[in-house]
Amino acid sequence: MRFLSTRDRAHAVSLSEAVARGIAPDGGLYVPESLPQLAIEAHDSSLRVVAREVLAPFCAGDPLGTQLDAILEEAFNFEAPLNAVEEGLDVLELFHGPTSAFKDFGARTLAAMLARAPAADSRPLTILVATSGDTGGAVAAAFHRRPGVAVVVLYPRGLVSPRQEQQLTCWGENVHTFSVAGTFDDCQRIVKEAFASAPLAARWRFSSANSINAGRLLPQVVYYAAASLAVRQRTGRAASFIVPSGNLGNALAALWARAMGLPIGEIVLAHNANRTVPDFIRTGQWHPRASVATLASAMDVGNPSNMERVRHLLPDIETLRAAVSAVSVEDAAIRARIRADFERTGRIWCPHTAVGAEAYARLSKERRERRHWVLVATAHPSKFSEIVEPIVGRAVPVPAPLAALLQLPRRVTAIDGTLASFAQAMQDCASHPCSTH
Ligand SMILES: *Cc1c(COP(=O)(O)O)cnc(C)c1O
Repeated sequence: MRFLSTRDRAHAVSLSEAVARGIAPDGGLYVPESLPQLAIEAHDSSLRVVAREVLAPFCAGDPLGTQLDAILEEAFNFEAPLNAVEEGLDVLELFHGPTSAFKDFGARTLAAMLARAPAADSRPLTILVATSGDTGGAVAAAFHRRPGVAVVVLYPRGLVSPRQEQQLTCWGENVHTFSVAGTFDDCQRIVKEAFASAPLAARWRFSSANSINAGRLLPQVVYYAAASLAVRQRTGRAASFIVPSGNLGNALAALWARAMGLPIGEIVLAHNANRTVPDFIRTGQWHPRASVATLASAMDVGNPSNMERVRHLLPDIETLRAAVSAVSVEDAAIRARIRADFERTGRIWCPHTAVGAEAYARLSKERRERRHWVLVATAHPSKFSEIVEPIVGRAVPVPAPLAALLQLPRRVTAIDGTLASFAQAMQDCASHPCSTH
């Protein structure tokens, strides 16, 4: 299987090259040349078995193909349970990994692939990752103490939750964390500028672990495949997914899964007050804008990178409108939804999942009853205890992996939103370890 740039089909590479490069040389994003059609009858829908079937065609002919079992053993070492909420609605819990958010799937697979991808260059690899809150922790956890790889995490200072910040800054050793005076979009811009900078590229061998990396997207197809197969086996129906969305990596995986022939009905993109995507679907006009801060901060994206891949798959607006719908949910509705669903079902959503739960509540009765729905739960509520606990009026128990990280000291370097400040901090990290705060 070859991977092509969204901009120029002539840039074709193997999976390991796409994973090592992160972004195509023309600035485009790598997409598989074709989406393999899966034979999906009589399935064992356990996650690792499905992972093998879904990912093997993408690895065909690539050096990573022979190591797929080892990669999956490392990366898919936790479950994605599907639990009933009410008649016609399940929740797909993607938060049982080491950092309690769905980003663990992509980050762990990417780390396992990069550790095995043949390198053209003998310099140690430096993974740059801009994060709106959850990616950075997942990537840091996945790469921590891996030999020959360093990770540099950039996050917007003051715009992540206290527990997310702890997960971004608690690592040390080969993980360096920079807090940026700016937004997630500024962090993403610095990463892009660093890639484009000749002096920096001469000094470091950079790769990206952002959701633009194909190695993060492909494993996300797996849980849509497994969940949709399980729903069909149990109910005889296709699964319709509601996906809390920001940079559109998770939603893109759902679209790819459906295009691969899996039994998936509707796909609803649930956005917070950052409404670039809902507005685009409504008006047909693409107007990326600065992000606004919301309670669902990991979705505060004003210019979602993966839109380029979505439009590659669904090039014109009518095709897109037929394939997905999108809603935007304000903070007040997030709070109200967390409270209402806790009272009604006893379940506590994280603010991101609550955006999806609100999108479900806003479906017409007719549309709700016509389909079997799956709400994608993207993070554990205890990561956002300062938001969730006052709303539900009780403490949210902390999962053991998160509790362990909360004990560790923080190490973080403050930078401003410029490439120069980033370059200086890189220099300082190379000469002495980042300071402890
Ligand atoms: C990253 C993240 C999202 C948004 O996912 P995208 O792939 O960027 O659309 C939603 N919820 C949580 C908890 C996240 O960490």
